Amino acid sequence: MENSKETTESETPNTSDGSLRMAPPEMLDLARRAAELLVQRIESLPGEGAWDGDFQQELEKQLMEAPPEEGRPAMEVLERAAHDILPISLRLDHPRSLAFVSCSSTWPGVLADFMASGFHINQCTWLVASGPSQLELVVIDWFRRWIGYPEGAGGLFTSGGSAASLDAFVAARETAGHPDRASVYMSDQSHSAHIRAARIIGVRPERIRLLPCDERFRLDMEALERAVNEDRAAGLHPIAVCANAGAVSTGAIDPLGEMADFCEAQGVWLHVDAAYGGFAAVTERGKELLRGMERADSIGMDAHKWFFQPYEAGALLVKDVGTLERAFAVRHDILQDTIWGANHPNFSDRGLQLSRSFRALKVWMSVQTFGMAAFRQAVSKGMELAERAEAYVRQSPILEMLTPVSLGIVCFRVNPGDAGIDEKALEEINRTVLARIFWDDKAFVSSTLLKGKFALRFCIINHNTTWDDVRETLEAIKRFGSEALNPD
Ligand SMILES: *Cc1c(COP(=O)(O)O)cnc(C)c1O
Repeated sequence: MENSKETTESETPNTSDGSLRMAPPEMLDLARRAAELLVQRIESLPGEGAWDGDFQQELEKQLMEAPPEEGRPAMEVLERAAHDILPISLRLDHPRSLAFVSCSSTWPGVLADFMASGFHINQCTWLVASGPSQLELVVIDWFRRWIGYPEGAGGLFTSGGSAASLDAFVAARETAGHPDRASVYMSDQSHSAHIRAARIIGVRPERIRLLPCDERFRLDMEALERAVNEDRAAGLHPIAVCANAGAVSTGAIDPLGEMADFCEAQGVWLHVDAAYGGFAAVTERGKELLRGMERADSIGMDAHKWFFQPYEAGALLVKDVGTLERAFAVRHDILQDTIWGANHPNFSDRGLQLSRSFRALKVWMSVQTFGMAAFRQAVSKGMELAERAEAYVRQSPILEMLTPVSLGIVCFRVNPGDAGIDEKALEEINRTVLARIFWDDKAFVSSTLLKGKFALRFCIINHNTTWDDVRETLEAIKRFGSEALNPD
């Protein structure tokens, strides 16, 4: 059958014979071309700008159309995607994309996603995908060891930190007996994903308590104790406290040990948001910094951040995997055959999703290919570059650190320290500098607000970023800063 198809295909440049199949030679040509486009992109990336984008009116004009009734040659479609759609975006993997939480993925990670799609894996149940399920157990067990969780801990891959915190809140609420008047606690530095997750599980907005931080942007323990006590007295039921293990603005690490003490004493679930910071734990230094994390009830971490994987590669680990299964397992007649063999997990019983992509494979293929020593070095490099950036900022007369570097994040601003410049003028100057970087420099940098101060922020966790990338971006900021300070 395939042979006869091949002959028909080779006579027509257009794939379509009315079916959705493709002939093997054409499949290979397309896959080769796709791989070539990606490798060329990786090679040319450092020479290009980190950002591209366009206004919606413009893109709508170019792209909005009714779905075509007739197909077009597949190569043309592929080229169009590669030239007209995919590059119109922030190149998060560009060595000078220092904004938000940008990282680049490993090539084995990219291929793993391709392979998992090609094998058409649905990582939902053991019956449907036992090999992939076992591998997800293996990789989750690696994460367990890196975190320092005990045996009996477990979890699953999720889309990312957002889904991880949502699943964690459900487990927390069910473990607390599904109280009516639930409340949750986190610092005002916590990621908005937690506010959204709390909303989704039905915590009323005024019961999502955002608490103040100390001068280093770590949760103020007294504020936490006060809020929990007040709320209990008012008849609320605290179900979860979220700790930052790498707050997204500053990299700040909340007092994890003290929070664990408090939550244990109070019988409240502790969720640690280690979405970007968690993989620092593969290094000795990171493990030390994150000490106490292993006492949490749950931990969310994103391998699409500091573990160099393509999106999506989040994970949720819980200290007692039963808390997830009790919260999520639902018997369903149509799935009765998936109770198969003994004692196997079904990942669909551990979280929100039934149909799931096989996310663990990318981590596994990457680690198998490069080995942990290379990963440890790549993670360390992010911390080292951030420290070098801090040293650079501290010795510059016109730059000012706004908080010490933590886990790869540098928050600073242009500030010559002259008495004449007030906060408002400083913000104006730094906004101008940010705009100049955006329009006139290869790098892409973003900003944040720290206790009302406008901060330029680098998150340096891309394994392809070099000191030259960081230094030249700092030099550009200094240059644009001087120009903004001395307009002529
Ligand atoms: C990225 C991030 C999140 C959200 O995770 P997603 O993977 O985007 O869903 C939450 N917390 C922190 C600290 C993050 O860096």
